[in-house]
Amino acid sequence: MRWAIGAQREKVMGAILAQMKDITMSLNLDEDSLRNIVRGVIAQMSNSPKCGKSDSSGGSVNSCASSVSDGKNGIFTDVKEAAAAAYEGFKQLSKGGMDARRKVIDIVKKMVVTHAKEWGEFEYNETKIGRLDHKIGKLEIVSGVPGVEWIRPDAYSGDHGIMLEEYAPYGVIGSITPLTHSIPTISGNIINMVAAGNSVVFNPHPGGVKSAVLAISAFNREIEKQLGISNLICCMANPTLDSFDAICKSDIISIMCITGGPGVVKAAMKSGKKSICAGPGNPPVIVDDTVNLDKAASDVIAGGAFDNNLLCVGEKEVFVLDSAFDGFMKALKNAGAYQISGSSLDRLTDAAFARKDGHWVLKRELVGKDPWVLAEAAGFSVPQNTNMLFAETDAEHPFVVEEQMMPMLPVVRVKSFDEALAAAKNAEHNYRHSAIIHSLDVTRMTAMARELNTTVFVKNGPSTAGLGLGGEGYLSYSIATTTGEGISNPKTFTRRRRCVMVDNLNIF
Ligand code: NAD
Repeated sequence: MRWAIGAQREKVMGAILAQMKDITMSLNLDEDSLRNIVRGVIAQMSNSPKCGKSDSSGGSVNSCASSVSDGKNGIFTDVKEAAAAAYEGFKQLSKGGMDARRKVIDIVKKMVVTHAKEWGEFEYNETKIGRLDHKIGKLEIVSGVPGVEWIRPDAYSGDHGIMLEEYAPYGVIGSITPLTHSIPTISGNIINMVAAGNSVVFNPHPGGVKSAVLAISAFNREIEKQLGISNLICCMANPTLDSFDAICKSDIISIMCITGGPGVVKAAMKSGKKSICAGPGNPPVIVDDTVNLDKAASDVIAGGAFDNNLLCVGEKEVFVLDSAFDGFMKALKNAGAYQISGSSLDRLTDAAFARKDGHWVLKRELVGKDPWVLAEAAGFSVPQNTNMLFAETDAEHPFVVEEQMMPMLPVVRVKSFDEALAAAKNAEHNYRHSAIIHSLDVTRMTAMARELNTTVFVKNGPSTAGLGLGGEGYLSYSIATTTGEGISNPKTFTRRRRCVMVDNLNIF
């Protein structure tokens, strides 16, 4: 039996007592005993873990505990219930047409910007990775994610009438989101998916679930208030590998959108359900001697140090031509990075990686931590305002070949462009995610683009320019690298459907 709890506790108790009168008689319990039992159960439910503090839009985030038990505001503990509720949400959205989609997106964009500081702080405190200013920054730019304006039909007309191809919704989408950007990925996914007419069930990373619940319950409250649509955006309150599995197996959920590392991408690809996979990266950078090295160094730091290198597109290792190497190292130093070497590098490597079965394995403890924390963990110190550590390494160093997600940049000296290209390809592992070049030589740009074959390729700017931040293009926090849809947008979450009128309705 599902019991609602909350302000009207006594009213609820009365209703339960009325329902249980018959049972009382058969169990030989008097009414007072039964009342005490019900009171105890309700008290226990009220004491279940809380999700956060109060939110300034009027609703209480602490309602998470009660939402979980009654499935309100999109928060569920059971995948079947979440999927069924999201399907109802999808039907209500369909009834509202494009206008409803537009209004939902407007609500989400406005709320994310309005709550950027509060939610950024909340996520920073929950996940304890990245940088607070960048956590807030990632929310402030969510308004750049494209919406319904991308959903335009294609039409042809000819001697045999007309043909219309429309971008139709799938229905309910299952979405898996990473620890590295919980609310940003969720908000961006919602904008894209709802623009395409879908509803969604999220299975967030357990380490960022409180942030997910905070934002999603607030979105749902506002959507319900303004449009009367409930549970358009659903979220598992207790995400696990089992709930992921249940989402994969749900008949109601049509497709999956995965944003995460190699493990979850592999699991999704095996699930038998269509999966749009925004998988791991390890973006290499090549720097040659044709560019302004100060500009190249500050661009590399701007992208690689952003949120302590948690971005999947962020610069993770640099290959520099011999002729530019010393100048580039000096430029990194001038731009605020701190060079380490020798025993400091060795100790940091030991703190960040373990050796297992002949491979380096990233330990999670230092992921997304500040440079001074990395230094402290390795037994040395650097100024607290250091934006990045860097070191000269060889091309096989674990900081080069592993996706380290921390502000420690390995820089490799190479004798030729061909050597840089081969080393960059090796470090990228054929993830086909992102790559960056600093060069004015168009032949080299073309060679790198062809050889690495990545989804995002940035020339002469920070990696973030590839997400429409200081470069042309639009923003998304889910870059479908593994399955090839590219930087996700509303069309990514649509089915293409054709409508044909034979020998009529053409007007030429
Ligand atoms: P992660 O792979 O540890 O977790 C991602 C999600 O998958 C989480 O919700 C987690 O609970 C779940 N998960 C993990 N293993 C699973 C499994 N075997 N089965 C089912 N679910 C599983 O990743 P993370 O640390 O949260 O995020 C960092 C990774 O995500 C990096 O590899 C990064 O490159 C990648 N990423 C990619 C993009 C992109 O757009 N391509 C964006 C952000 C992050």
